Amino acid sequence: MTQPRPAVLLFGPPGVGKGTQGAILGAIPGLFHMSSGDMFRSINRESEAGRLFHEVSSRGELVPDELTIRLWTQFMSERYDGTPHQGSVVLLDGIPRSTNQARLLEPEIDVRLVIHLVCRDVDAMVARLRKRAIKQGRPDDADESVIRRRHQVYQQETAPLLQYYPPGLVREIDALGTPLAVLRQIVDVLEPALRGCLLAP
Ligand code: AMP
Repeated sequence: MTQPRPAVLLFGPPGVGKGTQGAILGAIPGLFHMSSGDMFRSINRESEAGRLFHEVSSRGELVPDELTIRLWTQFMSERYDGTPHQGSVVLLDGIPRSTNQARLLEPEIDVRLVIHLVCRDVDAMVARLRKRAIKQGRPDDADESVIRRRHQVYQQETAPLLQYYPPGLVREIDALGTPLAVLRQIVDVLEPALRGCLLAP
């Protein structure tokens, strides 16, 4: 059996800024950014998994856990070689999204830190997603009722995960500021948590 990979979770509701921060942090040598949403969007639309993804995501629902974890495992084995150059720490954005997914991932990842991006202003996140939908042509974010459903699903299925991890692993970050202000808070918790994991270039 392979060793679990050290991992950091980027956690928070849709539209809170996980993707923005993930893309920035993923540029740091030693950190490998993996977005499950991007993984699903890269699947061929005509495949069975692709059709299922488009059907469930256009309703704001989640892809079933077993399929999600199977695709994740395949994605990681194809794209991630675990060398320090590519990334010795995996930065997971959007996965796990339920307690069951966290259990299924347990043999694969060793969670060192959960970065919980907090924003209690749902309307601000909805507005952000609608703006992005226009830019990126994402059907799940174009319709306000679907966005609201995504938030409901987050509260019901994903937020309980915060109780799954030991409280000492979870750090709250105020996600309302500018990307740089949010980044500064993340770096403050990430650097000590990963000291010794990331090699100096
Ligand atoms: P995201 O870009 O992370 O908001 O994900 C877009 C959509 O992909 C979600 O609304 C879900 O339908 C699906 N998705 C992404 N990650 C997961 C996951 N970990 N489990 C189940 N479905 C997911």
